[in-house]
This record gives sequence, structure tokens and C-alpha cells, in this order.
Amino acid sequence: MDLLTRRRLGVKGGGNACGGAYVLDVESGVVRTFLARATALATGGAGKIYLYTSNPDIATGDGRAMALRAGARLANMEFVQFHPTCLFHPKAKNFDQRSLAGEGAVLKNRAGQRFRRKNTIPAGAGARDIVARAIDAELKRTGDECILDITHRGR
Ligand SMILES: Cc1cc2nc3c(=O)[nH]c(=O)nc-3n(C[C@H](O)[C@H](O)[C@H](O)COP(=O)(O)OP(=O)(O)OC[C@H]3O[C@@H](n4cnc5c(N)ncnc54)[C@H](O)[C@@H]3O)c2cc1C
Repeated sequence: MDLLTRRRLGVKGGGNACGGAYVLDVESGVVRTFLARATALATGGAGKIYLYTSNPDIATGDGRAMALRAGARLANMEFVQFHPTCLFHPKAKNFDQRSLAGEGAVLKNRAGQRFRRKNTIPAGAGARDIVARAIDAELKRTGDECILDITHRGR
């Protein structure tokens, strides 16, 4: 839930060193206090701050927020790994479509036109930023909502 720091405990001197963590035991609902000389946060990423992501629900960045509240410095926050394509469905969760791309899915707009360079490059090929930019530009240009097509393969 949160890190335990000297300042929070009202301990004078010694900076604001971390002395452990307050942890919620989800089974009993009881908050437990763990005292520790060293505390490591391994709470994953923050992909869920984006509207569309293939990240799991736990990727909410709460560990980073804890670190920030405790006075830690956060760095390189702009580096977020992403995959350019994921399932587009009004009800189902987004999930990564790398396997579809691997099976030869292609990027097509609603008019059935492939729009990537030379019209020959499969969806899974190319640097992610380049593929993502091409998709973004095409969606904005056409107003389409989705672009990954694998209808040439059997069910
Ligand atoms: C769809 C997808 C496919 C991927 N494919 C690959 C791949 O093929 N190869 C590869 O190398 N990497 C892949 N990755 C990336 C890889 O999964 C992550 O980089 C890696 O899991 C990150 O590890 P982590 O330990 O930092 O965080 P996570 O694995 O996310 O673990 C964080 C843990 O902290 C827990 N947690 C979060 N907040 C709290 C809290 N407040 N209190 C207590 N516990 C908390 C979570 O429940 C979770 O168990 C993929 C990621 C995704 C989303």
C-alpha cells in the first residue's frame, strides 16, 4: 500500500530513509507492517494509464507512486514499451496481436487497401515506432477504427 519512511514515522535525522512497507493482506483484509533494512519495489509498469493497452490490470504504476510519495526520484518515465497492434473489440479486453502478425496478418484500411510501404510488408515486420506511426496516420486520415486483417487465412 505504501512505503514506511522515517519522516512518516516521525523519526528525526537520518534523512527520509525507507524502513519497510505497509502491506495489505488481501485474504484477511488486515494491513501489516513490515520493517526492513532494504526494500525493493517490483510492482511492474504503468501501461494501464493508456486507454488502449495489452498490459494486465495490475500495471497501474502504484509502486512508482509509492516511491514518489516516499521522496524517490523517478527517471525515464517516457520510455514505454508498446506493441502497435492489439485486439479492437467494443466489449472484450485489448490483447496483444503479435501472434496474428506472425501468422501473416496485414495492415489494411476499410477500403481493403494495404497502406504500408510497398504494400508488401506484413503487420509484424518493421520497427514498432514506424509501424505505429503508419497506423496512427492512416486511422486519422480515414477515420477507420481498426486496421489488422487476417481474413485471407482459414478460420
Ligand atoms: C502482452 C505482453 C506480452 C509480453 N511479451 C513478452 C515477451 O515475449 N518477452 C519478454 O521478455 N517480455 C514480454 N513482455 C514484457 C514482460 O512481461 C514485462 O516486461 C515483465 O513482466 C515486467 O516484469 P516486472 O517484474 O517488472 O512486472 P510484472 O511482471 O508486471 O510484475 C509486477 C507484480 O507486482 C504486483 N503488484 C503491482 N502493484 C502492487 C502493489 N501495490 N502491491 C503488491 N503487489 C503489486 C503485480 O500483481 C505483479 O505480480 C510482455 C508484456 C505484455 C503485457
